[in-house]
Amino acid sequence: MVKKTFYTVLLLILPLHALDHYPYCLLLRGYSDNALEPDIDAATMKVHYEGHHASYVKNLNDTLKDHPEFQHYSCKQLLTMLDKLPERIRTAVRNNGGGHENHTFFWQCMTPKQTKPSAKLLKAIKKHFGSLEAFKEKFNEAAKKVFGSGWAWLCHDPRTGKLVIISTPNQDSPYTEWLTPLLGLDVWEHAYYLKHQNKRASYIDAWWNVVNWTFVEENYKKASPFI
Ligand code: MN
Repeated sequence: MVKKTFYTVLLLILPLHALDHYPYCLLLRGYSDNALEPDIDAATMKVHYEGHHASYVKNLNDTLKDHPEFQHYSCKQLLTMLDKLPERIRTAVRNNGGGHENHTFFWQCMTPKQTKPSAKLLKAIKKHFGSLEAFKEKFNEAAKKVFGSGWAWLCHDPRTGKLVIISTPNQDSPYTEWLTPLLGLDVWEHAYYLKHQNKRASYIDAWWNVVNWTFVEENYKKASPFI
Protein backbone atom coordinates (compact mmCIF):
# COMPACT_ATOMS: atom_id res chain seq x y z
CA MET A 1 0.00 0.00 0.00
CA VAL A 2 2.78 2.37 0.95
CA LYS A 3 4.60 1.40 -2.24
CA LYS A 4 1.48 1.98 -4.33
CA THR A 5 0.91 5.40 -2.79
CA PHE A 6 4.55 6.29 -3.35
CA TYR A 7 4.37 5.44 -7.06
CA THR A 8 1.02 7.22 -7.50
CA VAL A 9 2.36 10.40 -5.91
CA LEU A 10 5.51 10.15 -8.01
CA LEU A 11 3.42 9.83 -11.17
CA LEU A 12 1.40 12.90 -10.27
CA ILE A 13 4.39 15.15 -9.71
CA LEU A 14 6.82 14.01 -12.40
CA PRO A 15 6.58 14.26 -16.19
CA LEU A 16 6.87 10.89 -17.96
CA HIS A 17 10.35 11.42 -19.39
CA ALA A 18 11.66 12.12 -15.90
CA LEU A 19 10.73 8.58 -14.93
CA ASP A 20 12.92 6.75 -17.41
CA HIS A 21 16.13 6.87 -15.44
CA TYR A 22 17.17 5.95 -11.91
CA PRO A 23 15.11 5.61 -9.76
CA TYR A 24 12.94 3.74 -12.26
CA CYS A 25 9.19 3.59 -11.63
CA LEU A 26 6.28 1.32 -12.21
CA LEU A 27 4.23 3.32 -14.72
CA LEU A 28 0.44 3.28 -14.68
CA ARG A 29 -1.05 0.76 -17.10
CA GLY A 30 -4.00 2.92 -18.05
CA TYR A 31 -6.59 0.23 -17.33
CA SER A 32 -7.71 -1.75 -14.30
CA ASP A 33 -6.84 -5.33 -13.34
CA ASN A 34 -10.18 -6.62 -14.62
CA ALA A 35 -10.31 -4.52 -17.81
CA LEU A 36 -9.11 -7.35 -20.05
CA GLU A 37 -11.48 -9.99 -18.66
CA PRO A 38 -12.30 -12.62 -19.72
CA ASP A 39 -9.24 -12.89 -21.98
CA ILE A 40 -6.69 -11.95 -19.32
CA ASP A 41 -7.99 -12.47 -15.80
CA ALA A 42 -7.83 -9.85 -13.04
CA ALA A 43 -5.90 -12.05 -10.56
CA THR A 44 -3.11 -12.59 -13.10
CA MET A 45 -3.00 -8.91 -14.04
CA LYS A 46 -2.72 -7.87 -10.40
CA VAL A 47 0.11 -10.19 -9.40
CA HIS A 48 1.87 -9.68 -12.73
CA TYR A 49 1.91 -5.89 -12.35
CA GLU A 50 2.13 -5.33 -8.58
CA GLY A 51 4.21 -8.42 -7.89
CA HIS A 52 6.43 -9.36 -10.80
CA HIS A 53 6.87 -6.03 -12.57
CA ALA A 54 7.31 -4.10 -9.32
CA SER A 55 10.06 -6.53 -8.28
CA TYR A 56 11.99 -5.94 -11.50
CA VAL A 57 11.82 -2.19 -10.85
CA LYS A 58 12.96 -2.55 -7.24
CA ASN A 59 15.80 -4.92 -8.14
CA LEU A 60 16.97 -2.67 -10.97
CA ASN A 61 17.05 0.31 -8.60
CA ASP A 62 18.90 -1.73 -5.97
CA THR A 63 21.43 -2.80 -8.60
CA LEU A 64 22.18 0.77 -9.70
CA LYS A 65 22.02 2.33 -6.25
CA ASP A 66 25.81 2.45 -5.88
CA HIS A 67 26.50 3.21 -9.55
CA PRO A 68 25.76 6.91 -10.10
CA GLU A 69 27.69 6.75 -13.39
CA PHE A 70 24.83 4.75 -14.96
CA GLN A 71 21.88 6.40 -13.25
CA HIS A 72 21.14 8.95 -15.98
CA TYR A 73 20.57 6.30 -18.65
CA SER A 74 17.11 5.22 -19.73
CA CYS A 75 16.32 1.57 -19.24
CA LYS A 76 16.36 1.10 -23.02
CA GLN A 77 19.84 2.64 -23.23
CA LEU A 78 21.16 0.34 -20.49
CA LEU A 79 19.88 -2.66 -22.45
CA THR A 80 21.75 -1.60 -25.59
CA MET A 81 25.02 -1.20 -23.67
CA LEU A 82 25.11 -4.29 -21.47
CA ASP A 83 28.64 -5.07 -22.67
CA LYS A 84 29.78 -1.68 -21.36
CA LEU A 85 28.52 -2.38 -17.83
CA PRO A 86 30.79 -3.83 -15.13
CA GLU A 87 30.46 -7.59 -15.01
CA ARG A 88 29.20 -7.58 -11.41
CA ILE A 89 25.99 -5.72 -12.35
CA ARG A 90 25.57 -6.85 -15.98
CA THR A 91 23.34 -9.89 -15.37
CA ALA A 92 21.18 -8.04 -12.84
CA VAL A 93 20.61 -5.16 -15.30
CA ARG A 94 19.95 -7.60 -18.13
CA ASN A 95 17.31 -9.47 -16.09
CA ASN A 96 15.70 -6.64 -14.13
CA GLY A 97 16.19 -3.84 -16.67
CA GLY A 98 14.84 -6.21 -19.32
CA GLY A 99 11.99 -7.19 -17.00
CA HIS A 100 11.08 -3.53 -16.44
CA GLU A 101 11.33 -2.46 -20.09
CA ASN A 102 9.54 -5.56 -21.41
CA HIS A 103 6.62 -5.24 -19.00
CA THR A 104 6.22 -1.48 -19.46
CA PHE A 105 5.95 -2.28 -23.19
CA PHE A 106 3.71 -5.31 -22.66
CA TRP A 107 0.99 -3.39 -20.76
CA GLN A 108 0.71 -1.04 -23.72
CA CYS A 109 0.44 -3.95 -26.16
CA MET A 110 -2.98 -4.71 -24.66
CA THR A 111 -6.18 -2.68 -24.44
CA PRO A 112 -9.79 -3.22 -23.43
CA LYS A 113 -10.80 -1.32 -26.60
CA GLN A 114 -11.36 -3.17 -29.84
CA THR A 115 -8.61 -2.24 -32.30
CA LYS A 116 -7.58 -3.41 -35.75
CA PRO A 117 -4.39 -3.09 -37.77
CA SER A 118 -4.52 0.00 -39.99
CA ALA A 119 -4.26 -0.32 -43.78
CA LYS A 120 -0.63 0.83 -43.66
CA LEU A 121 0.37 -1.70 -41.02
CA LEU A 122 -1.59 -4.45 -42.75
CA LYS A 123 0.28 -3.71 -45.98
CA ALA A 124 3.63 -4.08 -44.20
CA ILE A 125 2.51 -7.31 -42.51
CA LYS A 126 1.32 -8.73 -45.84
CA LYS A 127 4.57 -7.75 -47.51
CA HIS A 128 6.68 -9.54 -44.90
CA PHE A 129 4.50 -12.49 -43.91
CA GLY A 130 1.95 -12.99 -46.73
CA SER A 131 -1.19 -12.24 -44.72
CA LEU A 132 -2.36 -11.27 -41.24
CA GLU A 133 -3.29 -14.90 -40.57
CA ALA A 134 0.14 -16.14 -41.70
CA PHE A 135 1.79 -13.52 -39.50
CA LYS A 136 -0.24 -14.59 -36.46
CA GLU A 137 0.56 -18.24 -37.14
CA LYS A 138 4.28 -17.52 -37.33
CA PHE A 139 4.15 -15.35 -34.19
CA ASN A 140 2.19 -18.06 -32.34
CA GLU A 141 4.78 -20.66 -33.34
CA ALA A 142 7.57 -18.48 -31.94
CA ALA A 143 5.58 -17.96 -28.71
CA LYS A 144 4.76 -21.66 -28.28
CA LYS A 145 8.33 -22.75 -28.96
CA VAL A 146 9.90 -20.62 -26.22
CA PHE A 147 11.40 -23.23 -23.90
CA GLY A 148 10.76 -22.24 -20.30
CA SER A 149 10.37 -18.50 -19.76
CA GLY A 150 10.61 -15.81 -22.40
CA TRP A 151 8.93 -13.61 -24.96
CA ALA A 152 7.77 -13.54 -28.58
CA TRP A 153 8.21 -10.31 -30.52
CA LEU A 154 7.38 -8.57 -33.74
CA CYS A 155 10.30 -6.23 -34.35
CA HIS A 156 11.54 -3.74 -36.89
CA ASP A 157 15.17 -4.18 -37.88
CA PRO A 158 16.59 -0.68 -38.47
CA ARG A 159 19.53 -2.15 -40.39
CA THR A 160 17.37 -3.77 -43.09
CA GLY A 161 14.02 -1.99 -42.69
CA LYS A 162 12.38 -5.40 -42.39
CA LEU A 163 9.82 -6.74 -39.93
CA VAL A 164 10.96 -9.87 -38.11
CA ILE A 165 9.48 -12.28 -35.57
CA ILE A 166 11.86 -13.36 -32.83
CA SER A 167 11.76 -14.86 -29.38
CA THR A 168 13.97 -13.99 -26.42
CA PRO A 169 14.75 -16.12 -23.36
CA ASN A 170 14.06 -14.92 -19.81
CA GLN A 171 13.80 -11.11 -19.76
CA ASP A 172 16.20 -10.48 -22.63
CA SER A 173 15.20 -7.41 -24.63
CA PRO A 174 15.07 -6.93 -28.41
CA TYR A 175 16.92 -3.65 -27.82
CA THR A 176 20.01 -5.64 -26.79
CA GLU A 177 19.92 -7.12 -30.34
CA TRP A 178 19.42 -3.62 -31.78
CA LEU A 179 15.88 -4.49 -32.84
CA THR A 180 12.90 -2.22 -32.20
CA PRO A 181 9.92 -4.05 -30.70
CA LEU A 182 6.50 -3.34 -32.24
CA LEU A 183 4.51 -6.02 -30.38
CA GLY A 184 5.53 -8.35 -27.55
CA LEU A 185 3.98 -11.32 -25.79
CA ASP A 186 5.06 -12.49 -22.36
CA VAL A 187 4.99 -16.30 -22.26
CA TRP A 188 6.39 -16.74 -18.76
CA GLU A 189 4.09 -19.06 -16.81
CA HIS A 190 3.33 -16.19 -14.39
CA ALA A 191 1.53 -14.48 -17.32
CA TYR A 192 -1.07 -17.23 -17.72
CA TYR A 193 -0.80 -20.10 -15.22
CA LEU A 194 -3.60 -18.98 -12.84
CA LYS A 195 -6.17 -19.13 -15.65
CA HIS A 196 -4.74 -21.41 -18.30
CA GLN A 197 -2.43 -23.65 -16.23
CA ASN A 198 -0.19 -25.52 -18.69
CA LYS A 199 -2.17 -24.53 -21.80
CA ARG A 200 0.02 -21.79 -23.21
CA ALA A 201 -1.69 -22.01 -26.61
CA SER A 202 -5.09 -21.09 -25.14
CA TYR A 203 -3.50 -18.05 -23.43
CA ILE A 204 -1.97 -16.97 -26.73
CA ASP A 205 -5.34 -17.29 -28.51
CA ALA A 206 -7.07 -15.21 -25.81
CA TRP A 207 -4.32 -12.59 -25.88
CA TRP A 208 -4.94 -11.77 -29.56
CA ASN A 209 -8.42 -10.51 -28.56
CA VAL A 210 -6.88 -7.70 -26.51
CA VAL A 211 -3.91 -6.74 -28.70
CA ASN A 212 -3.59 -2.97 -29.01
CA TRP A 213 -3.05 -2.53 -32.76
CA THR A 214 -3.02 1.24 -32.35
CA PHE A 215 0.10 0.88 -30.19
CA VAL A 216 1.72 -1.47 -32.74
CA GLU A 217 0.99 1.11 -35.44
CA GLU A 218 2.55 3.92 -33.36
CA ASN A 219 5.67 1.82 -32.83
CA TYR A 220 5.87 1.00 -36.52
CA LYS A 221 5.56 4.69 -37.48
CA LYS A 222 8.31 5.67 -35.05
CA ALA A 223 10.57 2.85 -36.21
CA SER A 224 10.12 3.54 -39.94
CA PRO A 225 9.23 7.22 -40.32
CA PHE A 226 10.03 7.31 -44.05
CA ILE A 227 7.62 4.59 -45.16
MN1 MN B 1 5.83 -11.18 -16.99
